[in-house]
Amino acid sequence: MKYEPVIGMEVHVELSTKSKVFCGCSTNFHAPANSNVCPVCLGMPGVLPVINKRAVEMSVMVGLALNCTISRWSKMDRKNYFYPDLAKNYQISQYDLPLCHDGFIDIKANGTSKRIGITRAHLEEDTARNTHTIGGGDSGVDFNRCGVTLLEIVTEPDIRGAEEAFAYLTELKQLLRYLDVSDCNMEEGSLRAEANISIRPTGTESFGTKTEVKNVASFSGIQKAIEFEIARQAKLIDEGGKVVQETRGWDADRGITFSQRAKESAHDYRYFPDPDLVPIVVDEAWEGRIRESLPELPQARRARFESGYGLSAYDAGVLTAEKEMADYYEAVVKQGCAPKQAANWLSVELQALLTEHKQELTASKVTADRLAAMLKLIEDGTISGKIAKEVLLDMFESGKEPKAIVEEKNLVQISDTSAIESAAREVIAANPGPVAEFRSGKEKTFGFLVGQLMKATKGKANPQMANEVLRKVLKETE
Ligand code: ADP
Ligand code: MG
Ligand code: ZN
Repeated sequence: MKYEPVIGMEVHVELSTKSKVFCGCSTNFHAPANSNVCPVCLGMPGVLPVINKRAVEMSVMVGLALNCTISRWSKMDRKNYFYPDLAKNYQISQYDLPLCHDGFIDIKANGTSKRIGITRAHLEEDTARNTHTIGGGDSGVDFNRCGVTLLEIVTEPDIRGAEEAFAYLTELKQLLRYLDVSDCNMEEGSLRAEANISIRPTGTESFGTKTEVKNVASFSGIQKAIEFEIARQAKLIDEGGKVVQETRGWDADRGITFSQRAKESAHDYRYFPDPDLVPIVVDEAWEGRIRESLPELPQARRARFESGYGLSAYDAGVLTAEKEMADYYEAVVKQGCAPKQAANWLSVELQALLTEHKQELTASKVTADRLAAMLKLIEDGTISGKIAKEVLLDMFESGKEPKAIVEEKNLVQISDTSAIESAAREVIAANPGPVAEFRSGKEKTFGFLVGQLMKATKGKANPQMANEVLRKVLKETE
């Protein structure tokens, strides 16, 4: 490759504090426009913001999970600019002393693991939301979002391609979801990611001029936007042109980035410490309490699933992708079900039903207890794996206990030799042709005969016994 991409990500994540970061207003996303507002978040003169303690705690949780140093002392600054979504004409943010800094996160991309440096994670307030009617004419501002707790997470320029960027975002989102500090819903804007992209001749050290791609609605969109941007910059340079530092948007329909505005430099914001807010002091004891409150994080859980349950890296990855899934899995295994079997039924069979019906696992009628009860019915030989699929579907729809379904539908596996034997005799009598074929040495026909026997018993014959008994009866009647 002629050029090497250099990428740094900036992610804004809305933390799920119940109230806003500097006032008591609710953060409910679904409230009617401009109903969650007060003089503080509307930027009235003379009001005094007060910082939300939980916002600081959640930010420190993220900082610790990202292996950051937590500042013992930090402060809030005013970032001054005019925009209709910002009634105060400044955003309260953090400038030179972020709450969390110098961390890292390990990602897996292209089959290898790689460490991405975290420059900083700082606390700020979200802005209002501008709304425009399609076709123009009307614009509005919804101040419900103004003042919602926002954490900005900035990486070092350590990312070397679109796939790594995708892996970083996936890993970060997973971490935030495990920490339960944000729903990370991109459609509702609770997670917004921007990519800073430049290229340099492969083998050289110094960075090229970067562009910043904003307003992309999905991780896969960001991946495509980065790929496009790398190719665009390479072509530009090859043709003797120069990359200009600017903010670019992403047109998902056309699959291209486009220039939005030239980058204003940082000092334009005239940052200065907000005189209305006291410094944030996180002493060792508080940091320690927050550290102790951290849940088991995704990477640790993945490793434990592999070593503790003997799962493959792939299965462990699938089962820990969402915390809810991992919790569910462990609830099943705790009831004594075989780990591998539980993994398959959850991540393949039940997952297929959930995907088909666009249902969340946590909303499913197939609770962990019910799935475990069904797995036990397989393990103790009451039902076969084939019948279990039927039971699972019934449970999925009706929410009944697996035992009740098995009894109601009379699905108990037939393990009674004499019943299977008489069915085998009937099958042999009804299929003289295939039986003759089998006896002349065509072993393949045996499979057909077993199929007929299963059909005759409505799939309920214990499959292993069906095989054995049929072979025995074929021999006896030769
Ligand atoms: P800005 O002031 O333009 O926001 P920053 O220095 O704050 O720039 O960096 C923002 C992000 O851009 C960070 O993630 C950083 O790692 C990344 N970055 C900085 N320089 C480059 C570059 N030349 N190419 C790619 N990414 C870069
Ligand atoms: Mg920036
Ligand atoms: Zn308010």
